[in-house]
Amino acid sequence: MLSGWLRACALVMVGLVSASALAVDKPHTAIVVGGGLAGLTAAYELQNKGWQVTLLEAKPTVGGRSGLAGSEWIGNAKAQPVLNQYLDRFKLKPVPAPDFVRTPGYLIEGEYFSAADLATKQPATAEALKRYEAALNDIARSITDPENPAANSTLFALDQINVSNWLDRLNLPPTARQLISQQIRTRYDEPSRLSLLYLAQQSRVNLNVDDRDRRAARLPGGSVVLAEEFVKQLKVIKTNSPVSAINQDKDGVTVKVGSVGYEAEYVVLAVPLRALSKIQLTPALDAQHQGAIKSTNYGWHDQIMLKFKTPVWESKARMSGEIYSNTGLGMLWIEPALKGGANVIINLAGDNARIMQAFGDKQLADQVLIRLHAFYPQARGAFTGYEIRRSSVDPSTGGAYLAFGPGQISKYWRLWEKPLQRITFAGEHTDTLYPGTLEGALRTGQRAAGQVQDLAAGKSFEPVKVAPPKAPEPAAKESSGGIGGFFSNMFGGSKPEPKPAEKAPEPAPAPAPAPAPVTPPPAPVVEPAKPAVVEPAKKAPVKKESTKKETVKKAPAKPAATHKAPAKTDATKKAPAKPATDKAATPAAPAAESKN
Ligand SMILES: Cc1cc2nc3c(=O)[nH]c(=O)nc-3n(C[C@H](O)[C@H](O)[C@H](O)COP(=O)(O)OP(=O)(O)OC[C@H]3O[C@@H](n4cnc5c(N)ncnc54)[C@H](O)[C@@H]3O)c2cc1C
Repeated sequence: MLSGWLRACALVMVGLVSASALAVDKPHTAIVVGGGLAGLTAAYELQNKGWQVTLLEAKPTVGGRSGLAGSEWIGNAKAQPVLNQYLDRFKLKPVPAPDFVRTPGYLIEGEYFSAADLATKQPATAEALKRYEAALNDIARSITDPENPAANSTLFALDQINVSNWLDRLNLPPTARQLISQQIRTRYDEPSRLSLLYLAQQSRVNLNVDDRDRRAARLPGGSVVLAEEFVKQLKVIKTNSPVSAINQDKDGVTVKVGSVGYEAEYVVLAVPLRALSKIQLTPALDAQHQGAIKSTNYGWHDQIMLKFKTPVWESKARMSGEIYSNTGLGMLWIEPALKGGANVIINLAGDNARIMQAFGDKQLADQVLIRLHAFYPQARGAFTGYEIRRSSVDPSTGGAYLAFGPGQISKYWRLWEKPLQRITFAGEHTDTLYPGTLEGALRTGQRAAGQVQDLAAGKSFEPVKVAPPKAPEPAAKESSGGIGGFFSNMFGGSKPEPKPAEKAPEPAPAPAPAPAPVTPPPAPVVEPAKPAVVEPAKKAPVKKESTKKETVKKAPAKPAATHKAPAKTDATKKAPAKPATDKAATPAAPAAESKN
């Protein structure tokens, strides 16, 4: 005994062990479930604070949905502040976007119009677009605090209304209505499935953000390169580790992957809501959380990349960035730098995506090609292939990303911000200001990591309050379709003074089954195939642990075409999270991930 103590003193004296090292406390432990950008951020931030973190990812690669976005355009620090902070930190250099990408364009019956063109060549459409924006901005400005959008009964009532009904009230000319609907469904979801309050809150968040800030730069390689940087920093990542259960007690948490249990003090749960429904939590979630998991709306967005030998569009069209067509094709990007060719990425969103689920991949590509061919006759001859990403029917998300439906802000606002005992929640769907974006995912990773530290420091969290509906402030100034005009129309009056709703109406029922799209695609030329069979994500086999407790780090999934090769970085590390049983998962060999 004495000799051991003397030996320790001697080691300190010769400098092999510092006195401070002997005094260091055991580090806190956390498990992060889900290796998307939210989970990666949470793990990175906790690890930086000295925590021992194990990240468990169900798939063979990490990065989650960041690997799905086909476009490389990103916002500047005004539009996506946290994203830009991490790019700076990891010395990732975005390239300034060409000017024509930074402002939206329009494809009307195949003819390209810049915003300036539209004003001179289609003044009625241009005027109607402005009227829509002014009306939406009026409502947005009446939201004083975007973190509390339902602050009074008028705003609360807007959550019960769907965007399509509001657009009806604006009496827009058909082309303008088609373009506006296309923009809304491309950014969020079908207008008929979207809460007007959500659209207004998002407009409030971006009120001072110009279109030019939204697509200010190109991140070569896309957002997946950011995920790769996080992977380089993290010590323990276990891929092929689908979490099936999380048990909490007063001492800590046990996270189950197959028959293996990992123990830690806290968990960050960074999986989308539909994936969360497959994880058994003990104690169980209450009815409100379970309702949110089941019914929170996710927007539908599928991406189709058509590849051509040479550009088939006229160069003057320079179609890239946000181009909205009135023919059901959705947003288009021409990505000259992507995959070395003349490629077009077409975003099929909202009900257009829902309808198109009836087509198999080849037929879907044909349908889109037929429409493009109508405008660009060279398209068919130059066509070399396609890739399709069906995010809409991904069983783990049930859509591409959160887009609150009518009545859902009233019910679920900030629900996932409050930790449940030892669990904190992250993921784009848990962000108040930037849900559905990379920015939102990163922000929630930071927030969840901060909450875990607070919990360890003994802090308790009050439930986040949804403000009870109060009488509204004096209404925003009357304008065509603004909140004042809208409400007086909506509730029967035509006076300039809005009549506030005495009491908030009952939440609207769950969105109805798919209505006909606002912009129906032209009649299909080929017969629809039987509904596309989308295979559920296969569970990776979980092998019994080798006695070495090895973990393997996997690089994030790349977008479809570039992701033929398995992950690059492999590293073998010790897992800090202690398996509760004697066994830990050994990741299966990485599988090449390809949706097509
Ligand atoms: C088609 C498309 C286009 C987009 N375009 C843009 C854009 O232009 N700009 C923008 O800012 N954002 C865009 N986004 C949104 C952005 O990609 C997402 O908001 C963001 O990547 C979400 O990150 P996350 O970490 O919240 O979730 P995810 O990336 O979904 O991460 C969750 C992770 O959890 C894992 N997981 C699930 N269940 C389990 C389990 N049981 N155990 C362990 N792991 C599990 C999943 O495999 C996944 O890796 C787009 C999204 C899509 C789908």
